[in-house]
Amino acid sequence: MKAAVFEGPGKMEVKEVPQPSCGKGEVLIKVEACAICGTDIRIYRYGQKNVKPPHIIGHEIAGTVEKVGSGVDGIKTGEQVILVTSVGCGKCKFCRKGWHNLCSNGVAIGYYYQGGFAQYMTVPEPAVSQGNIIPFPGKLSFVSASIVEPLSCCINGQDYLRINSEDIVVIFGCGPIGCMHAELAKVKTAEQIIMVDVDEKRLRMAEKFLPDIIINSSEKDPVEEIISITDGGADVIIVACGVNKVQEQAIQVSNKKGRISFFAGLPKDKPVITLDSNIIHYEEISIFGAFASYERQYREALEFIVDNKVNAEKIVTHRFPLEKIVEAIEAAGSGEGLKVVIEPWR
Ligand SMILES: [Zn+2]
Ligand SMILES: [Zn+2]
Repeated sequence: MKAAVFEGPGKMEVKEVPQPSCGKGEVLIKVEACAICGTDIRIYRYGQKNVKPPHIIGHEIAGTVEKVGSGVDGIKTGEQVILVTSVGCGKCKFCRKGWHNLCSNGVAIGYYYQGGFAQYMTVPEPAVSQGNIIPFPGKLSFVSASIVEPLSCCINGQDYLRINSEDIVVIFGCGPIGCMHAELAKVKTAEQIIMVDVDEKRLRMAEKFLPDIIINSSEKDPVEEIISITDGGADVIIVACGVNKVQEQAIQVSNKKGRISFFAGLPKDKPVITLDSNIIHYEEISIFGAFASYERQYREALEFIVDNKVNAEKIVTHRFPLEKIVEAIEAAGSGEGLKVVIEPWR
């Protein structure tokens, strides 16, 4: 089969490799679509501690069940499926609650395990037995289904924010994640959505998601703008970009009782921000984290996409065959595209 093999920072080679086996408890998937995540771009550029090259990355996967290993119940050959990325130990207090994304001994598909930038991949036994394979209805395209994973992560972030029809929502960062947050905030009937980015190109793309207001923060001070537009502050602020200063700005533009999501992580060598703790105290502001997602949120994301509450096709701007994976990563990484999807059989 053909696979894109990551061989170290800046090195990705598409080549013939043996088709993976399908042992006891495992399931072989024919990968039909695998979307490129921000973390795939970072792995390609810099490597990552959980990814040991040579390795096949890619975790936003939709495909067909090709073969079912012995001892596997409830999964049928030919079924269309998506995969949950996080694989927990199954025993710890977080796993017992279903929060496999927070398992301290957790691993993940496309990181520790081989991923989806290949024509076939094996779902390992712990993932199969944990319920990481989720079937989806035939009418949904594989490309749209590959968006379930990133959307489920946005749902995880917004679960904490309880957005409702009285909320003015600010989203910093107009990449695919920021745009999906805007779609979700719309589903939650937010009163007003303000999107902010430094990149005019990104802002033009964000316009497709019909925010009420967009702010180019390289031209205007976003804090002043937001404070004036919202008459003192926004109710919900989502930081969908890994920039220290923007996390600080999020606190500055929060209304009293504001809810803030630090959705994106900060650079590992620079994870500290300045925070006036008294603002949090006197103004009753809440700050939430979010990391990956778990099964229930995948099912919810799938429902939103199937019901067309979230339009996955609007989020996907580019599709590439496997051979052009480097070009595809560049298109996603340069901000030229929103979601870029690899179709290994094209
Ligand atoms: Zn992802
Ligand atoms: Zn665990």
